[in-house]
Amino acid sequence: MAAGPTPFFLGDVVRLRKPHPCGSFEWTVVRLGADIGLRCLGCQHKVLLTRRDLERRLKAFVSRGPEWTETPVPDSGSGTGGEETSVSGPAVLAGPVPGDGPAPG
Ligand SMILES: [Zn+2]
Repeated sequence: MAAGPTPFFLGDVVRLRKPHPCGSFEWTVVRLGADIGLRCLGCQHKVLLTRRDLERRLKAFVSRGPEWTETPVPDSGSGTGGEETSVSGPAVLAGPVPGDGPAPG
């Protein structure tokens, strides 16, 4: 058994081990990040789970989102074409900015 992180994608429908109080087992992935956002398919209730917590509760994938690829993409190699696929998402790029001001004369 491979012990690695389970990749989740927006639009994935997952089945959890325990049902929601509304009776539905199935959730859609609606947010990715440090926490995974899930929306109940039964009552549209939204929750946030940590990736680790979700992996523990996950029973099976019902269907995968459009961003999921069955074959892993190669690290590098493609050289033809000039189309770059830019992933637009809630990327966090904020970081410490060094105070590099103009030096006084
Ligand atoms: Zn529900």
